[in-house]
Formats: sequence, structure tokens, C-alpha cells
Amino acid sequence: MGSIIKAKFRGDCKICGSTWEVGDDLYYQKNPKAICGNKECYTDQGGTVSTYQQSSFKNNDRDTIISKVPDVTVSDSVKQLADDWMQYFVTAHHMAKSIYPEQDVNSHVFGQIRSKILDQLCYITRLQKE
Ligand SMILES: [Zn+2]
Repeated sequence: MGSIIKAKFRGDCKICGSTWEVGDDLYYQKNPKAICGNKECYTDQGGTVSTYQQSSFKNNDRDTIISKVPDVTVSDSVKQLADDWMQYFVTAHHMAKSIYPEQDVNSHVFGQIRSKILDQLCYITRLQKE
């Protein structure tokens, strides 16, 4: 039984010609060897995968989230806070990148780390003001 992996190298399928970049989801099976990002091509190559993994592949970060933004006037003081927040965000982003250089910046995990650092920066700032 094969599984779904994250591509460690960019590459292309020798059968259908589709390409993948580092970090893309790929179907992979060692024996008999089968590899492709396209499920039909992969199964044509003799690859198999568990139904559990198939469903996680399909839903991979593509769940729709609907939010409703309230229609209110935003004051200048809140806009100033937002500007400050942006500075924290940028700082947190660069901190996360320097501390976890191997982590893909577009991954869910990177976003979580950055968010945590952002929280901590805000917390430290509050301590300093007290
Ligand atoms: Zn293929």
C-alpha cells in the first residue's frame, strides 16, 4: 500500500508528464513503484492508497470558511492599532523564518508558529507598559 507524501524535490511524472514542486502532495508507493500527484495516473501505475489518506488529500486546506465582516466605521485610533499590529506581524514572520528555516512559510504549521510568536510579542509589550 502506498501513501501520500510531501515532495522533497521538484519532479515530474514519467507517465503523464505532470509536474510537482517541493512540498506538493504526491501519491507514492515503493513496491511496485508508483509516483504521481494525479491519483488516476498513480493507480494506473499500480499504486494503491488507503481511503483515509484519500479523503485527507482531497480536503487538504481547501475547506471553505465563510465569514461576515460587520459594516462599521473604523476610528483612526483603531487604524493606528492595526498599523502597530502589522509591525508585530512582520517581525513575527521574520523571527519564525530565522528560527525554523526549514519550515515552508506557506504551511499551516508555519502560520501557527508565527501566530504564537505574534501573541508573545504582544504579551511582552504589555508587560513592559505595566
Ligand atoms: Zn502521472
